[in-house]
Amino acid sequence: MPKTKFHVDITKKMDKQDVPGHNRWHPDIPAAFSVEPGESFRMECLDWTDGQISDNDDPSDIKHVDLNRVHVLSGPVHVNGVEPGDLLVVDILDIGVFPEAEWGFNGIFARENGGGFLTDHYPEANKSIWDIRGIYAESRHIPGVSFAGLIHPGLIGTAPSKEMLDEWNRREKELVDTDPNRVPPLANLPDPSSAVLGQLKGEEFDRVAKEGARTVPPRENGGNCDIKNLTRGSRVYFPVFVKGGKLSVGDLHFSQGDGEISFCGGIEIPGWIDLQVDVIKGGMEKYQIKSNPIFKTSPVEPHYTDYIVFEGISVEEGSGKQTYLDANIAYRRACLNAIDYMKTLGYTGEQAYMLLSTAPVEGRLSGVVDIPNACATVAIPKDIFVNQDVFPKK
Ligand code: ZN
Repeated sequence: MPKTKFHVDITKKMDKQDVPGHNRWHPDIPAAFSVEPGESFRMECLDWTDGQISDNDDPSDIKHVDLNRVHVLSGPVHVNGVEPGDLLVVDILDIGVFPEAEWGFNGIFARENGGGFLTDHYPEANKSIWDIRGIYAESRHIPGVSFAGLIHPGLIGTAPSKEMLDEWNRREKELVDTDPNRVPPLANLPDPSSAVLGQLKGEEFDRVAKEGARTVPPRENGGNCDIKNLTRGSRVYFPVFVKGGKLSVGDLHFSQGDGEISFCGGIEIPGWIDLQVDVIKGGMEKYQIKSNPIFKTSPVEPHYTDYIVFEGISVEEGSGKQTYLDANIAYRRACLNAIDYMKTLGYTGEQAYMLLSTAPVEGRLSGVVDIPNACATVAIPKDIFVNQDVFPKK
């Protein structure tokens, strides 16, 4: 078993750990530990909210969650000899839950505190707790389904350079300024409240807390991509922007549907991840991977083969407004069509929404050229429904 290089106590908040992690992106957050290229090691992670959600039936913890606290990450790890311009090769060797916490959560954030992909339709907070039984997940809040998890880190990335960080903050502020009072906001700008910055202290802490980018969006460094197929057995090639790479990881998901549409996640868990790192010197230029990682998929994934597939087009629901190839609206319509159908199977809209966010659902952009409608599909494995034939019958 690889040596544990980053340890957490799941009864304590991230800033109270012996060596704290962080919840902002900034090149000046000091490394928590260092490794050599070729080395494998274990990192333990808290859940993304820093333990704010409890295993009970009351969604008020979701409703009142402090989103300035997210995402608490483990790391950064400094890889010796790695320089800007290199590619950091990261093998995700294995991922698991802690024996004392074999459960995870999903939820719907209230519109005024986080929101989600379908917040106009489901503005109230809700929660589902998922019990993890070996490789399977089941929820007392969404009966009649059981599926194999496709476990992965929702968030993994290298640190930005100072120039890159400044550019993120500039462009995201420019977006927010177009509609500064929007609920939920167009983006989360730097905010020092609830910042956790490793072992930084004093004036350095204050400066970095003010400048540090929020961890919510995916960016050039990878980050919160929420790609379900980045599972154990996959290999990721990260562009490197600072000395040592400064890789961080967190937001582990036991399972997730493409799009992670509820925003309060996949099946959110604390747990451990085993990594092995290596370096390709000068790889960013050589392979033209200058921004955004690439990755190789894993040979180990649940093999669902039969799906019930819902289509959606880029016409706004309700208003009937025709848009031009808006793939976001097409995916939303596909999800809404799936939810309407699942209601006929006896699920509430909220249950169906959370199921799309947690089960190994495949989302596709099926067509993006047939003007004026983009076509998106959402495919639900039929075998996740226990003892139910989910197709239409005569
Ligand atoms: Zn997550």
